[in-house]
Amino acid sequence: MTLAPYACDPGKTRGRRYAQAPAPTRTDYQRDRDRIVHSTAFRRLVYKTQVFLNHEGDLFRTRLTHSLEVAQLGRSVARSLSLNEDLVEAIALAHDLGHTPFGHAGQDALNVCMANHGGFEHNLQSLRVVDHLEERYPEFDGLNLTFETREGILKHCSRVHAEQLERFDPGGVGHRFLNRVQPSLEAQLCNLADEIAYNAHDIDDGVRSGLITLAQLQQVPLFDDHRRQTLAEFPHLQDKAQGRRLLYESIRRMLSAQVYDVIQATQAALQLAAPGTVDAVRHLPPLIQFSAAMREQSQMLKRFLLDKLYRHPRVLDTTGQAQQVVRDLFGRYLAQPDHMPESHQRRLAAALENEPVSERALARIVADYIAGMTDRFALREHQRLTGQRLLFESS
Ligand code: MG
Repeated sequence: MTLAPYACDPGKTRGRRYAQAPAPTRTDYQRDRDRIVHSTAFRRLVYKTQVFLNHEGDLFRTRLTHSLEVAQLGRSVARSLSLNEDLVEAIALAHDLGHTPFGHAGQDALNVCMANHGGFEHNLQSLRVVDHLEERYPEFDGLNLTFETREGILKHCSRVHAEQLERFDPGGVGHRFLNRVQPSLEAQLCNLADEIAYNAHDIDDGVRSGLITLAQLQQVPLFDDHRRQTLAEFPHLQDKAQGRRLLYESIRRMLSAQVYDVIQATQAALQLAAPGTVDAVRHLPPLIQFSAAMREQSQMLKRFLLDKLYRHPRVLDTTGQAQQVVRDLFGRYLAQPDHMPESHQRRLAAALENEPVSERALARIVADYIAGMTDRFALREHQRLTGQRLLFESS
């Protein structure tokens, strides 16, 4: 398949931090993807919360299935735009590797715990996982991924953290947050595919959990237009017993409409800007985009989900308990680092050698340890250390 001139070409990669001979049968981006799939952090995604706690039901999305859905949507758009599918897949599969247990509740709690120690951002943590925390190779820490995959993983970054990255790696992946440059189109695409994926699957999980209803969703034009079209075409889905099919068909149409919209709007933007290289892309405004009308519809859907699902009293109740688990764990390990496994003790000893503020170094290692936990491991650790049983399955 031919790549567009504005696509990332593995033959022109800015390379890896540690030079390695090329693989005989795979491009550098395919190799990145394979490294991600074989990582420990990737396997943990299956037991990490997306919105619904992992043990609340076997059929809700987890971080893993979410990441697979982002990769699927991203690849299908990438193919239509002649972008690099392998790079999109690598970025999509890695984009949530740094997520804490318990979804956003966990990340918010850890960020509060880390307030005096440099904060916690899940995008930066995903980069930390692939750059430092995975221990799989004889000669280096991390997965030694290409610049382009790492650039895509670091979706957002605060100025303070970008400055830190820049000190250790001048001109590296932190650089663009200091001089406001865009990432590759493949990275931009993963961002939008992430949004399309969670908006759609959160409707699905939300309805199946009973926290939101098809009737409520009639307030959301992006969903309701497709629900009405579906009913016009298949009137037998009016029957309540067919609710699932109606839900799935409406979501399917909604997804397709967004994918076609992104392809069309982006093709138009690309035609206008006509970037001749990936570097030209980086110096233009974001080009992967929805049409203005779709952007507005997607915002309305987001507001609905925020209001009716993410802030549903039942979700907020578990959020509060999840935050307590993270806070308690953080406090315990900070006070007694020997409660952490030996691998983390070793990391602590190494960090103390070149870090003057030792509490800061310890807090970072504790944050790395907690962020890497699956939901159920965090709950078990919490019970072991505090004797309390929070958020355990009722059965
Ligand atoms: Mg995501």
